[in-house]
Amino acid sequence: MHRNDMKPATIAAQAAGAIDMASGGVVPPLQPSTTFVRDRDYQLVNEGNVYLRSHNEAVRLGEDILSRLEGAADTQLFPSGMAAIAAVFRTVPNGGAVIVQSGIYWGTTKWIRDFCVRRDITLHEVEASDTAALQALCAAQQAQLLFIETPSNPWLKTVDIKAAKACAQSAGASLVVDSTAATPLLTRPLEMGADIVMHSATKVINGHSDVLGGVLSTRVRSPLWEAICMDRNEAGAVMGPFEAWLLVRSMRTLPLRVEKMCANAMAVAEFLSQHPEVEDVLYPGLPSHPGHALASRQMTGGYGFLMSFLVKGGREAALAVAGRLNLFHRATSLGGVESLVEHRHTIEPHTGIPENLLRISIGIEDVDDLISDLNQALLG
Ligand SMILES: *Cc1c(COP(=O)(O)O)cnc(C)c1O
Repeated sequence: MHRNDMKPATIAAQAAGAIDMASGGVVPPLQPSTTFVRDRDYQLVNEGNVYLRSHNEAVRLGEDILSRLEGAADTQLFPSGMAAIAAVFRTVPNGGAVIVQSGIYWGTTKWIRDFCVRRDITLHEVEASDTAALQALCAAQQAQLLFIETPSNPWLKTVDIKAAKACAQSAGASLVVDSTAATPLLTRPLEMGADIVMHSATKVINGHSDVLGGVLSTRVRSPLWEAICMDRNEAGAVMGPFEAWLLVRSMRTLPLRVEKMCANAMAVAEFLSQHPEVEDVLYPGLPSHPGHALASRQMTGGYGFLMSFLVKGGREAALAVAGRLNLFHRATSLGGVESLVEHRHTIEPHTGIPENLLRISIGIEDVDDLISDLNQALLG
């Protein structure tokens, strides 16, 4: 069987077939060396390796696995999701323009706003889940990049990637999709026309809340992509070998974790949507969600592990529910094997997040335990 014919679960479980040829180990080695030797004739002992910033075997292996999962021409790993986003935006020339979805991951919005001011770049923010609004803006503007995030964090809005591609083309822009909440398993944005897909690997790709990382994968090796690769190599925003090795280890169970998290999340969303102390549940898997039909077309195998819900009674009631949870850790971030809860208004009080909103990231625990924990916390 040709390696590219393999299904995601096989690619992931076998780390794209990597073994250690030197020892015969079925696990690739962790090689931390920063530099690589030449022989007496001054030839490199291993042609591919000169210096760690450019040549890191664990990073290359992680990138190979992710390219196969995304159906990408190439992938670059970064030391964080934000470093990956920054690498894309640094390609925009001074005085250029970008179109960015509003109401996305707050760290992204904040950094892009500051960056655009510093570099004299015109920033258009738009509610991209409203396709008509996105079309109108893109028809009227020229830009280098259109950046969307679907499903979005923490609003769980869904954006039509195919429609966004047409919009990007009308604005002369490349389409970049932050697919962190969709994982490389549930949506393949490059097949829907996206030019670059981005992930915070800190979240579900690593999935064990112990590695910070970012991913960019490209549909084709475009001049934009070459600029990103050159910048990473020369400016040095690279992932270290130990992190990359852990990431490869974690990805072996990525499809299994995503499947379980999605099934758990669906059951939790259904439970919360029936609960008398809950005002609303934001989860694209629920038929009542405005993006449900789109999510059903765009996502395969589940609707993800992330959701938000509004607690009846306002801010104090929501904080009290969070405080009574025993299994859910009260912590930021998402996508780990352990379930987390966060009161987003405490983190971003000025962005219009409802004060009674709790965002939860569903892990791989027993779903009945998660539901009883939520139930006791809601009933007080
Ligand atoms: C966490 C996150 C990021 C930022 O990634 P880091 O790895 O924390 O730098 C970007 N986008 C989304 C949707 C995220 O959840």
